[in-house]
Amino acid sequence: MRKFVTIWLGMMVGLLLLTGCGMETAASLPPLPTLMPTGLATAVSTLPPPSIDAATPVAQLPTQTPEPTLTPTPTSTATPSPTPTATPIGPCTERMPNDDLFTIVTQTYGLSRNYAPQDLVLLTDYLPVEVTLGYPTELREVALGPLMQMIADMQNSGLQPWILSGYRSYAAQAISWEKWNREEPERAAILSARPGHSEHQLGTTLDFGSPELAEIVGIADIEFHTYFYQTNEGIWLAENAHRYGFTLSYPRASQELTGFFYEPWHFRYVGEEMATFLHESGLYLTEYQLLNQPEPCIP
Ligand SMILES: [Zn+2]
Repeated sequence: MRKFVTIWLGMMVGLLLLTGCGMETAASLPPLPTLMPTGLATAVSTLPPPSIDAATPVAQLPTQTPEPTLTPTPTSTATPSPTPTATPIGPCTERMPNDDLFTIVTQTYGLSRNYAPQDLVLLTDYLPVEVTLGYPTELREVALGPLMQMIADMQNSGLQPWILSGYRSYAAQAISWEKWNREEPERAAILSARPGHSEHQLGTTLDFGSPELAEIVGIADIEFHTYFYQTNEGIWLAENAHRYGFTLSYPRASQELTGFFYEPWHFRYVGEEMATFLHESGLYLTEYQLLNQPEPCIP
Protein backbone atom coordinates (compact mmCIF):
# COMPACT_ATOMS: atom_id res chain seq x y z
CA MET A 1 0.00 0.00 0.00
CA ARG A 2 2.80 2.39 0.88
CA LYS A 3 4.42 1.71 -2.46
CA PHE A 4 1.11 2.37 -4.21
CA VAL A 5 0.63 5.68 -2.43
CA THR A 6 4.21 6.66 -3.14
CA ILE A 7 3.86 5.91 -6.82
CA TRP A 8 0.58 7.79 -6.92
CA LEU A 9 2.11 10.75 -5.17
CA GLY A 10 5.11 10.72 -7.46
CA MET A 11 2.86 10.69 -10.48
CA MET A 12 0.75 13.55 -9.22
CA VAL A 13 3.83 15.66 -8.70
CA GLY A 14 5.23 14.60 -12.05
CA LEU A 15 2.02 15.46 -13.84
CA LEU A 16 1.81 18.83 -12.16
CA LEU A 17 5.36 19.53 -13.23
CA LEU A 18 4.51 18.61 -16.79
CA THR A 19 1.66 21.07 -16.88
CA GLY A 20 3.85 23.85 -15.67
CA CYS A 21 2.63 23.97 -12.10
CA GLY A 22 5.20 24.73 -9.46
CA MET A 23 6.31 22.08 -6.98
CA GLU A 24 6.96 24.10 -3.84
CA THR A 25 5.71 21.39 -1.51
CA ALA A 26 3.67 18.28 -1.93
CA ALA A 27 1.16 19.73 0.53
CA SER A 28 0.33 22.45 -1.98
CA LEU A 29 -1.42 19.93 -4.21
CA PRO A 30 -5.04 20.95 -4.69
CA PRO A 31 -7.61 18.94 -2.74
CA LEU A 32 -9.08 16.23 -4.92
CA PRO A 33 -12.80 16.91 -4.34
CA THR A 34 -12.67 20.41 -5.84
CA LEU A 35 -11.41 18.99 -9.13
CA MET A 36 -13.81 16.10 -9.24
CA PRO A 37 -16.29 16.06 -12.10
CA THR A 38 -19.71 14.78 -11.21
CA GLY A 39 -20.68 11.22 -11.86
CA LEU A 40 -17.32 9.73 -11.00
CA ALA A 41 -17.87 8.46 -7.50
CA THR A 42 -17.05 4.92 -8.51
CA ALA A 43 -13.79 5.85 -10.12
CA VAL A 44 -12.77 8.12 -7.31
CA SER A 45 -13.23 5.44 -4.74
CA THR A 46 -10.38 3.54 -6.39
CA LEU A 47 -7.99 6.44 -5.91
CA PRO A 48 -5.70 6.56 -2.91
CA PRO A 49 -6.80 8.99 -0.20
CA PRO A 50 -5.94 12.59 -1.08
CA SER A 51 -4.20 13.32 2.21
CA ILE A 52 -0.49 13.88 1.81
CA ASP A 53 1.92 12.38 4.29
CA ALA A 54 4.64 14.97 4.63
CA ALA A 55 7.11 12.28 5.60
CA THR A 56 6.57 10.40 2.38
CA PRO A 57 9.51 10.97 0.08
CA VAL A 58 8.57 12.66 -3.18
CA ALA A 59 11.59 11.33 -5.00
CA GLN A 60 9.83 8.72 -7.08
CA LEU A 61 8.88 10.85 -10.03
CA PRO A 62 7.82 8.79 -13.03
CA THR A 63 11.00 8.35 -14.95
CA GLN A 64 11.08 7.62 -18.62
CA THR A 65 12.61 4.28 -19.38
CA PRO A 66 15.57 4.80 -21.66
CA GLU A 67 14.69 3.63 -25.10
CA PRO A 68 17.04 1.59 -27.25
CA THR A 69 18.93 3.73 -29.67
CA LEU A 70 17.48 3.38 -33.11
CA THR A 71 18.28 5.07 -36.32
CA PRO A 72 15.25 7.19 -37.05
CA THR A 73 14.11 8.14 -40.49
CA PRO A 74 12.77 11.62 -39.92
CA THR A 75 9.88 12.33 -42.22
CA SER A 76 8.54 15.40 -40.47
CA THR A 77 9.64 18.95 -41.05
CA ALA A 78 7.67 20.31 -38.14
CA THR A 79 8.61 23.62 -36.65
CA PRO A 80 10.20 23.58 -33.20
CA SER A 81 7.95 24.10 -30.22
CA PRO A 82 8.02 27.66 -28.90
CA THR A 83 9.05 28.25 -25.34
CA PRO A 84 6.06 28.12 -22.98
CA THR A 85 4.53 31.44 -22.13
CA ALA A 86 4.42 32.74 -18.58
CA THR A 87 0.72 31.93 -18.38
CA PRO A 88 0.38 28.24 -17.56
CA ILE A 89 -3.07 27.83 -19.10
CA GLY A 90 -3.94 29.36 -22.46
CA PRO A 91 -6.38 28.67 -25.25
CA CYS A 92 -6.40 25.07 -26.45
CA THR A 93 -5.92 26.29 -30.00
CA GLU A 94 -2.45 27.50 -28.96
CA ARG A 95 -1.49 24.47 -26.88
CA MET A 96 1.89 22.93 -27.66
CA PRO A 97 2.55 19.77 -25.61
CA ASN A 98 6.36 19.91 -25.82
CA ASP A 99 6.44 16.18 -26.61
CA ASP A 100 5.52 15.07 -23.10
CA LEU A 101 3.70 11.74 -22.89
CA PHE A 102 0.76 12.79 -20.72
CA THR A 103 -0.88 15.64 -22.66
CA ILE A 104 -4.66 15.56 -22.36
CA VAL A 105 -6.45 15.58 -25.70
CA THR A 106 -10.23 15.26 -25.82
CA GLN A 107 -13.14 16.60 -27.84
CA THR A 108 -12.99 19.54 -25.41
CA TYR A 109 -9.26 20.02 -24.94
CA GLY A 110 -7.40 20.32 -28.23
CA LEU A 111 -3.96 21.07 -29.62
CA SER A 112 -2.53 23.87 -31.70
CA ARG A 113 -2.64 23.39 -35.44
CA ASN A 114 1.09 24.10 -35.32
CA TYR A 115 1.98 21.17 -33.06
CA ALA A 116 3.80 18.22 -34.58
CA PRO A 117 6.14 15.85 -32.74
CA GLN A 118 9.84 16.03 -33.52
CA ASP A 119 10.87 12.38 -33.45
CA LEU A 120 8.54 10.59 -35.85
CA VAL A 121 9.72 7.41 -37.52
CA LEU A 122 8.15 5.40 -40.31
CA LEU A 123 6.94 2.03 -39.03
CA THR A 124 7.43 0.34 -42.41
CA ASP A 125 11.17 0.75 -41.77
CA TYR A 126 10.96 -1.36 -38.61
CA LEU A 127 8.00 -3.74 -38.85
CA PRO A 128 7.08 -6.35 -41.48
CA VAL A 129 4.42 -5.69 -44.06
CA GLU A 130 2.09 -8.24 -42.50
CA VAL A 131 1.89 -5.86 -39.52
CA THR A 132 1.89 -2.45 -41.23
CA LEU A 133 -0.03 -3.68 -44.28
CA GLY A 134 2.20 -1.28 -46.17
CA TYR A 135 0.54 1.81 -44.72
CA PRO A 136 3.05 4.68 -44.22
CA THR A 137 2.23 4.87 -40.51
CA GLU A 138 4.38 7.14 -38.35
CA LEU A 139 5.03 6.96 -34.61
CA ARG A 140 7.25 8.88 -32.21
CA GLU A 141 10.59 7.15 -31.73
CA VAL A 142 10.09 7.14 -27.94
CA ALA A 143 7.42 4.46 -28.41
CA LEU A 144 9.11 2.45 -31.15
CA GLY A 145 11.20 0.05 -29.06
CA PRO A 146 8.30 -0.96 -26.78
CA LEU A 147 6.02 -1.35 -29.80
CA MET A 148 8.46 -3.61 -31.62
CA GLN A 149 8.82 -5.78 -28.52
CA MET A 150 5.05 -5.97 -28.09
CA ILE A 151 4.45 -6.91 -31.72
CA ALA A 152 7.15 -9.59 -31.54
CA ASP A 153 5.61 -11.05 -28.38
CA MET A 154 2.16 -11.06 -29.97
CA GLN A 155 3.46 -12.84 -33.05
CA ASN A 156 5.31 -15.34 -30.89
CA SER A 157 1.97 -16.05 -29.22
CA GLY A 158 0.46 -16.89 -32.60
CA LEU A 159 -1.36 -13.58 -33.06
CA GLN A 160 -1.56 -11.43 -36.19
CA PRO A 161 -1.66 -7.79 -35.06
CA TRP A 162 -2.21 -5.13 -37.69
CA ILE A 163 -1.33 -1.46 -37.27
CA LEU A 164 -3.88 0.60 -39.15
CA SER A 165 -3.12 4.16 -38.10
CA GLY A 166 -0.59 6.17 -36.11
CA TYR A 167 0.47 9.81 -36.22
CA ARG A 168 -1.94 12.12 -37.94
CA SER A 169 -1.07 15.75 -38.55
CA TYR A 170 -3.60 18.48 -37.90
CA ALA A 171 -4.08 18.79 -41.65
CA ALA A 172 -4.51 15.04 -42.13
CA GLN A 173 -7.00 14.97 -39.27
CA ALA A 174 -9.00 17.71 -40.97
CA ILE A 175 -9.16 15.58 -44.13
CA SER A 176 -10.12 12.48 -42.12
CA TRP A 177 -12.81 14.37 -40.24
CA GLU A 178 -14.29 15.68 -43.50
CA LYS A 179 -14.15 12.23 -45.10
CA TRP A 180 -15.96 10.45 -42.28
CA ASN A 181 -18.60 13.16 -42.10
CA ARG A 182 -19.23 12.78 -45.81
CA GLU A 183 -19.23 8.97 -45.93
CA GLU A 184 -20.72 7.99 -42.58
CA PRO A 185 -22.15 11.11 -40.95
CA GLU A 186 -23.96 9.14 -38.25
CA ARG A 187 -20.74 7.41 -37.17
CA ALA A 188 -18.27 10.25 -37.82
CA ALA A 189 -18.12 11.31 -34.19
CA ILE A 190 -17.21 7.75 -33.25
CA LEU A 191 -14.66 7.16 -35.97
CA SER A 192 -12.89 10.48 -36.04
CA ALA A 193 -12.28 13.74 -34.22
CA ARG A 194 -12.21 17.39 -35.13
CA PRO A 195 -8.73 18.54 -36.17
CA GLY A 196 -6.71 19.39 -33.08
CA HIS A 197 -8.78 17.03 -30.95
CA SER A 198 -7.24 13.67 -31.83
CA GLU A 199 -4.62 11.90 -29.73
CA HIS A 200 -3.18 10.77 -33.05
CA GLN A 201 -1.68 14.26 -33.46
CA LEU A 202 0.56 13.45 -30.47
CA GLY A 203 2.37 10.76 -32.48
CA THR A 204 2.19 8.26 -29.60
CA THR A 205 -1.14 6.69 -30.50
CA LEU A 206 -1.88 3.65 -32.64
CA ASP A 207 -4.99 1.94 -33.96
CA PHE A 208 -4.67 -1.85 -34.12
CA GLY A 209 -6.54 -4.27 -36.31
CA SER A 210 -7.16 -7.99 -36.44
CA PRO A 211 -7.76 -10.41 -39.31
CA GLU A 212 -10.56 -11.90 -37.19
CA LEU A 213 -12.65 -8.73 -37.11
CA ALA A 214 -14.31 -9.02 -40.53
CA GLU A 215 -15.72 -12.44 -39.77
CA ILE A 216 -16.92 -11.44 -36.30
CA VAL A 217 -18.67 -8.33 -37.61
CA GLY A 218 -19.79 -9.88 -40.89
CA ILE A 219 -18.46 -7.08 -43.10
CA ALA A 220 -15.59 -8.02 -45.41
CA ASP A 221 -13.43 -4.89 -45.36
CA ILE A 222 -14.26 -3.46 -41.93
CA GLU A 223 -11.25 -2.00 -40.12
CA PHE A 224 -12.70 -0.47 -36.95
CA HIS A 225 -15.54 -1.89 -34.93
CA THR A 226 -16.36 -2.29 -31.26
CA TYR A 227 -16.14 -6.05 -31.69
CA PHE A 228 -12.36 -5.70 -31.91
CA TYR A 229 -12.49 -6.46 -28.18
CA GLN A 230 -13.64 -9.98 -29.09
CA THR A 231 -10.70 -10.73 -31.39
CA ASN A 232 -7.70 -12.57 -30.01
CA GLU A 233 -5.54 -9.54 -30.80
CA GLY A 234 -7.95 -7.24 -28.95
CA ILE A 235 -8.13 -9.56 -25.95
CA TRP A 236 -4.34 -9.80 -25.77
CA LEU A 237 -3.88 -6.03 -26.03
CA ALA A 238 -6.46 -5.33 -23.32
CA GLU A 239 -4.65 -7.67 -20.97
CA ASN A 240 -1.01 -7.00 -21.85
CA ALA A 241 -0.44 -3.65 -23.61
CA HIS A 242 0.29 -1.88 -20.32
CA ARG A 243 3.39 -4.03 -19.84
CA TYR A 244 4.85 -2.28 -22.88
CA GLY A 245 3.69 1.20 -21.85
CA PHE A 246 0.51 1.36 -23.95
CA THR A 247 -2.86 2.23 -22.47
CA LEU A 248 -6.41 2.03 -23.80
CA SER A 249 -7.48 5.65 -24.18
CA TYR A 250 -11.21 5.13 -24.53
CA PRO A 251 -12.55 2.20 -22.53
CA ARG A 252 -16.25 1.67 -22.02
CA ALA A 253 -18.00 4.60 -20.38
CA SER A 254 -15.23 7.01 -21.26
CA GLN A 255 -17.47 9.26 -23.32
CA GLU A 256 -18.46 11.67 -20.56
CA LEU A 257 -14.93 12.90 -20.02
CA THR A 258 -13.29 12.30 -23.39
CA GLY A 259 -16.15 12.82 -25.83
CA PHE A 260 -15.21 9.51 -27.49
CA PHE A 261 -17.04 6.21 -27.41
CA TYR A 262 -15.42 2.89 -26.57
CA GLU A 263 -12.45 2.31 -28.91
CA PRO A 264 -10.93 -1.09 -28.06
CA TRP A 265 -8.42 -0.67 -30.92
CA HIS A 266 -6.93 2.70 -29.89
CA PHE A 267 -3.85 2.58 -27.67
CA ARG A 268 -1.57 5.39 -26.56
CA TYR A 269 2.01 5.13 -25.34
CA VAL A 270 2.45 6.67 -21.88
CA GLY A 271 5.39 4.62 -20.60
CA GLU A 272 5.32 1.40 -18.66
CA GLU A 273 4.97 2.97 -15.22
CA MET A 274 1.92 5.09 -16.00
CA ALA A 275 0.30 2.40 -18.16
CA THR A 276 0.69 -0.18 -15.42
CA PHE A 277 -0.64 2.20 -12.79
CA LEU A 278 -3.71 2.89 -14.92
CA HIS A 279 -4.25 -0.81 -15.65
CA GLU A 280 -4.05 -1.77 -12.00
CA SER A 281 -6.16 1.13 -10.75
CA GLY A 282 -8.88 0.67 -13.35
CA LEU A 283 -8.62 4.30 -14.42
CA TYR A 284 -7.96 5.62 -17.90
CA LEU A 285 -5.49 8.40 -18.57
CA THR A 286 -7.90 11.28 -19.20
CA GLU A 287 -10.04 10.32 -16.23
CA TYR A 288 -7.03 10.15 -13.94
CA GLN A 289 -5.67 13.47 -15.17
CA LEU A 290 -8.89 15.45 -15.09
CA LEU A 291 -9.44 14.24 -11.53
CA ASN A 292 -5.99 15.30 -10.42
CA GLN A 293 -4.95 18.25 -12.57
CA PRO A 294 -6.28 21.72 -13.24
CA GLU A 295 -7.99 22.31 -16.56
CA PRO A 296 -5.27 21.78 -19.20
CA CYS A 297 -6.30 24.64 -21.48
CA ILE A 298 -9.19 26.96 -22.22
CA PRO A 299 -11.50 25.44 -24.85
ZN1 LIG B 1 -7.34 5.93 -32.89
